[in-house]
Parts: sequence; structure tokens; C-alpha cells
Amino acid sequence: MKVLVPVKRVVDYNVKIRVKADNTGVDLANVKMSMNPFDEISVEEAIRLKEAGKATEVVVVSIGPAQAAETIRTALAMGADRGILIKTDEEVQPLAVAKLLKGVVDEEQPGLVIVGKQAIDDDSNQTGQMLSALLGWGQATFASKVVIGDGSAEVTREVDGGLETLSLKLPAIVTSDLRLNEPRYASLPNIMKAKKKPLAEKAPADYGVDIAPRLKTLKVEEPPKRSAGIKVPDVATLVEKLKTEAGVL
Ligand code: AMP
Repeated sequence: MKVLVPVKRVVDYNVKIRVKADNTGVDLANVKMSMNPFDEISVEEAIRLKEAGKATEVVVVSIGPAQAAETIRTALAMGADRGILIKTDEEVQPLAVAKLLKGVVDEEQPGLVIVGKQAIDDDSNQTGQMLSALLGWGQATFASKVVIGDGSAEVTREVDGGLETLSLKLPAIVTSDLRLNEPRYASLPNIMKAKKKPLAEKAPADYGVDIAPRLKTLKVEEPPKRSAGIKVPDVATLVEKLKTEAGVL
């Protein structure tokens, strides 16, 4: 079974986000970019499936600028087999990403697609669900455990009330949550080997997808600054302040 993993290049999660002075978006000048953390988890899961003999090939795909090739190389260094870069300098919103991924799925015919539950830049949490709808495949979102059976998958997912286990017929879409696994670091020899792994370059037009944005960003603003906390000498003062100042008791 082939496993397809989309990987998005996003602002590194350690970076303190700055909003552009004209409020049109986030300042990306000289900012460290990395693989979306949920996609690292998906890559790790796919590699573990291959190591366990459940998957035969792990293919990663990224939609983005030329530099997204670095994100693909990171996945290849972790252990993925092959990469596809759908190159564009335009902003690509979740519906267009899902349509492009459908094009890749039609070509590659994977048995499983492991999508991140959300990209930490736009926080949309939409792509996996949209891809599932476009393909007419089953989906299990927010997975914390995936067990592959014969033509099926058992997925434990995190829901408000706790954990829910779903049985899915393959091919299917799974979206990865934080507790699915802890991604490995790529070793230096594997980083070197990754440079020789195949990376195909495509364009959105190759899949006949119009990536024009459907949503317009009107304004991006910093959240209000949090005021500094204070220390209270004892519980009685804390309760008093919660009653009189915060008004929460
Ligand atoms: P979102 O719906 O934007 O929160 O993204 C959810 C997931 O969709 C991400 O974790 C990725 O797995 C995938 N995805 C979104 N945008 C891209 C992209 N430009 N390239 C590759 N994968 C993407």
C-alpha cells in the first residue's frame, strides 16, 4: 500500500509572529520556515507503517514556492521515498489544496492519505475533510492511533468527550493529531541520502486546478497585549481579588 503525505511549509512554531505594518498579513521577511508540525507527525506515522511492513512506499507532496522543496527534503531525510512539489508563488487556500491533492491521489492511487489536522499558519483545519469529500473516501480526523488491517484501518481519534475508535474501509483519509507519535530527527547520513531521492516538480495547471483565492483577508491584527500577572500573599487575598476585582466568584 502506498501512503501519501501532504507537507506544508509554514512559519516555524518557535518564531514570534509579527504582523506587517500595513495590517495586510504576517511578516515573512527573514523568518525561519519549517514543516508544519502536524505534517511531521504524519510523515513519521507513514514511515512507521512502512517499517512495520504495512506500507510499501511513502510519497510526500507540497504545494508552495520553490523553497517548499526543502520541506520535502526534510521528509525524505526522515525516511519518505519520493517527493512531489506543486510549485506556485500564489497563496493557495484549503479548497484549492484539496483539489490539487485530489489530482495527486488520482495519479498515485495511494491506499491511505495522512493529512495534518491543521496548518499552524492559517489554522484552517479544512484540507483533509475537503479532500475526503472530493474523493468520496472515508475520513477519520484528529487521529491519536492508527492500526492498519486487511483493507481497513482502525483509527482512535480525540473527541471532546475522550477517545473514539472508528473503523474505515481503505482507501481513506486520516488527519493526524499531536499524540499520534513523536517524530524522529533526520540523521546526517539520511539528510545526505535524501538529496538523491526523486523529487518531481509540477504546476497547479498540470492538475487543471484554478487556485484563485475564494476568501479575501480584510485585515490582520496582533491580539491585545496581556497585562502582567501579580503574586498574592495567601489564599484569602486570592479569593478576595477573584470576588471583588475579577468578579468571577
Ligand atoms: P489546513 O486545512 O490549512 O489547516 O491544513 C491541514 C493540512 O493540509 C496540513 O497539515 C497539510 O497536511 C495539508 N496542507 C495544507 N496546505 C498545504 C500545502 N500548501 N501543501 C501541502 N499540504 C498542505
